[in-house]
Amino acid sequence: MINQSEDILKTYFGYETFRAGQKKTIDYIRARHNTLAVMPTGGGKSLCYQIPGMSLDGTAIIISPLISLMKDQVDALEALGIPATYINSSLTASEQQTRLNDIAAGRYKFVYAAPERFESSLFMSIIKRINVSLIAFDEAHCISQWGHDFRPSYRSIIPNLNQLPNIPVTVALTATATTEVISDIQSLLEIDNEHIVKTGFERENLSFHVVKGKDKSSYIRSFMDKHRDESGIIYTATRKQADSLHEQLAKRGLSTAKYHAGLTENERKEAQTAFIHDEKTVMVATNAFGMGIDKSNVRYILHYAMPMSIESYYQEAGRAGRDGEHSDCILLFSPKDVQLQKFLIEQSLMDDNAKQHEYRKLQAMMNYCHTHGCLTSYILDYFNDNEAGAKSACGRCSNCLNRQNRMDITEEAQMILSCVKRMGERFGASMTAKVMKGSRDSRLHQFGLHKLSTYGLLSAYTEKEITERIQFLVAEKWLSTKDGKFPTLQLNENAVEVLKGKATVWMYTAPIPANEPGDYQKELFELLRQLRKRMADEQDVPPYVLFSDATLKELSRYLPE
Ligand code: ADP
Ligand code: MG
Ligand code: ZN
Repeated sequence: MINQSEDILKTYFGYETFRAGQKKTIDYIRARHNTLAVMPTGGGKSLCYQIPGMSLDGTAIIISPLISLMKDQVDALEALGIPATYINSSLTASEQQTRLNDIAAGRYKFVYAAPERFESSLFMSIIKRINVSLIAFDEAHCISQWGHDFRPSYRSIIPNLNQLPNIPVTVALTATATTEVISDIQSLLEIDNEHIVKTGFERENLSFHVVKGKDKSSYIRSFMDKHRDESGIIYTATRKQADSLHEQLAKRGLSTAKYHAGLTENERKEAQTAFIHDEKTVMVATNAFGMGIDKSNVRYILHYAMPMSIESYYQEAGRAGRDGEHSDCILLFSPKDVQLQKFLIEQSLMDDNAKQHEYRKLQAMMNYCHTHGCLTSYILDYFNDNEAGAKSACGRCSNCLNRQNRMDITEEAQMILSCVKRMGERFGASMTAKVMKGSRDSRLHQFGLHKLSTYGLLSAYTEKEITERIQFLVAEKWLSTKDGKFPTLQLNENAVEVLKGKATVWMYTAPIPANEPGDYQKELFELLRQLRKRMADEQDVPPYVLFSDATLKELSRYLPE
């Protein structure tokens, strides 16, 4: 009998070499250590329990959150000649009975089951009698309330498993690598530090892009025109968005499928199959779509709205490029997305503590949208995966590509930071922007903020521009937020350095598209230049207060040589 892991890999699965982390995980499980494998989506987690499941005696039980996922995995194993089955609510009572009998007779090497199954005394009585080789918790982050997809039923399995006469070795697999989720899984499933296998999270074939300040529908239209024949997923934040976007794209003659929780099971199944088999090129879906989907040639993941956390984003974006070919992950950001996510948190049944936690994750997601640093590095840092010395710029994300224009905004930053300080660190970005703009909003009077020396200091900017600067400062950690529904701005160590004049704050801007300058643009530029000069002369204010050198430089691009 074939028993070496390498032989099983070659003979049954037809692969030559293990991927990062697979061998180690398999070895730990075979040595009967409870193990946690943290690998990115598409990293090959299934093999980590399938190979030990084949070499250990008995039946492996895999706990899986999704019915569709179980069937796919079982079909794949059966196609390889490995006896496998699943038990879930999609089966009729008599089908279930037959399968349970076969399980009791020890006919299967692998049994996939939903967590709820462990509440059934019949099921429990059967697995108590058979020889269980291992228990695998697939998508194990579902067990943690800090994860992005918490399922209480996942957690309630543990006391049931403890009833088994011989407690089998447990393996947990997930693509979520935040410290809290990891330590939660560890303590619930009794996994010690030595038996965590974590592979690098960087997916070198993925390019991340954040698109801001564009009309989303027209962006998608022109994007789709260029990528007509490529397979891709568009994620929306709501079912309604999915419905209307799907309709728009279908009207344009694109081959589109749609998937969300408001559709019948049949409709969803059909949409999924059509997409997987390349009968439809574009999938418009909510986050209900995709967990465990193994489609290799997805060329782009376009987020129509910002998701609630970096975890969710990376998991969804990670469905692109499983074949290793270059793929794009694009996030269309608008400030409204933040409102929606806040609303969802407020409406949820979480306690205050959990809500605070969600707000913190949301803030990190917003910072991703506002940073000017490398997006890849940002994500890796978030998962604590950027080892010292790792390169800090991927060279392929939208921020790395748009680094042409660098401007020194130290002075603006100093003004903003001192304004935050004068406001007593009790207000958020939008109030601060109002003060700096010199807004007549009555709330300013209510708090006496119109009397501050920083009132109106950036009056030459729009409130929106000032807010963007503040968000940038937060994203780049020059300023902190105290979390909550309305996060307040707080000075941190970096802010102090800036205020003391010991640090320089750089901002990066994308080059302005090289349009031919129209006459009115030239005229406008000249006007602005004169205006700036006159105002500076007359009012004795430094010119950057009116508009910065960098702004002027940007505008000058419109001028002929
Ligand atoms: P995950 O669960 O981590 O998202 P999967 O287990 O679904 O990933 O595997 C993703 C793809 O990678 C599958 O098509 C699988 O067959 C393939 N794969 C897994 N391990 C290897 C390997 N060692 N060599 C080549 N392909 C592999
Ligand atoms: Mg998987
Ligand atoms: Zn980058």
